[in-house]
Amino acid sequence: MINEKIYVTVPYLPPLEEYLTYLREIWGSRWLTNNGKFHQQLEGALSEYLGCGPLALVSNGTLGLIVALQALQIRGQVITTPYSFVATAHSLLWNNLEPVFVDIDSDTCNLDPAKIEAAITPATTAIMPVHCYGAPCQIEAIQKIADAHGLKVIYDAAHAFGVRQNGKSILSAGDLSVLSFHATKAYSTVEGGAIVCADMAMKQHIDYLKNFGFVDEVTVTEAGINAKMNELQAAFGLLQLKYVDEAIAKRRAIAARYLEKLRDVPGIECFKTPAGVDMNHSYFPILVGPDYPLSRDGLYEMLKEHNILSRRYFYPLISTMSTYRHMPSAAPANLPVATRIADQVLCLPIYPDLSSENVTAIAELIAGKASA
Ligand SMILES: *Cc1c(COP(=O)(O)O)cnc(C)c1O
Repeated sequence: MINEKIYVTVPYLPPLEEYLTYLREIWGSRWLTNNGKFHQQLEGALSEYLGCGPLALVSNGTLGLIVALQALQIRGQVITTPYSFVATAHSLLWNNLEPVFVDIDSDTCNLDPAKIEAAITPATTAIMPVHCYGAPCQIEAIQKIADAHGLKVIYDAAHAFGVRQNGKSILSAGDLSVLSFHATKAYSTVEGGAIVCADMAMKQHIDYLKNFGFVDEVTVTEAGINAKMNELQAAFGLLQLKYVDEAIAKRRAIAARYLEKLRDVPGIECFKTPAGVDMNHSYFPILVGPDYPLSRDGLYEMLKEHNILSRRYFYPLISTMSTYRHMPSAAPANLPVATRIADQVLCLPIYPDLSSENVTAIAELIAGKASA
């Protein structure tokens, strides 16, 4: 029996004393925001750590998506996945764009490239895929379709911090990739995010857009927004960056333990790490199939009775929400794989400080039902 409440995730905090050193410097300089020293340092440190192009920090991932769409002047329809956090589709509506939902593939839960072309119309201008749970999308297949039809690709890379494929960052894929540094993500600045750019010209443009469109003190060239990250968060991020490898290693060990305990449980399906991919293990999703004695919601409730708070990410599908369900592409018949996975998925607790005893206890509770 587990006595404490176990949440699906808990932020990994850097040592407070070390953060105080940064805060003292901020107090000394009184430079709190607007492209301060820590903001500049973090932009450089992150693009080096991640091995990607220049990036622009933003105040959160959702504003990052909204600004990315503005930067590329996307119009009309955008092909996207229904199997994501609501911010993906919401960012399209905030730009007056029409989301067109395309089904996912069951190996990765990512947009299925084989189904994209049928959804392209003369109004389509872009694709917004998500690297769901940090598993890379089929980047090359998506790019080929985009190139053939003259479409932009904006990746929602909120889950993809540090993910590499064959040693190379996946954040350079497409035209822009948007990270989230929310407290619940693999790497955090409390709230925050970044837009990964292909070159300095694009970063410059996004730097204007995230600061009201100011080019200099007296010149505003377009209708920008305020999406700046402040110095307290940038400092938190610089410090967090020192500990992120350790945090990911701990997550990796937890994922390995779950996999070992759950992989042969009848009715439970775990996801494989794709070959050649370094994951960040922010999530541990399982599918609860018809051969398991409990339904997905039954397992969710059973775990809750034992103080274990798993989460149904991603359920309900974005396309079933009242804002979206009237759209033709939102019909469940158009999205059979996403619909099934949303009904079967459960994300188990995974965070660096989760003890191996508790991981074992959670896995044994799940396995125990199947053999009871
Ligand atoms: C967390 C998340 C976002 C939003 O990021 P915020 O920083 O919380 O605004 C967008 N898309 C996905 C897939 C996410 O998981």
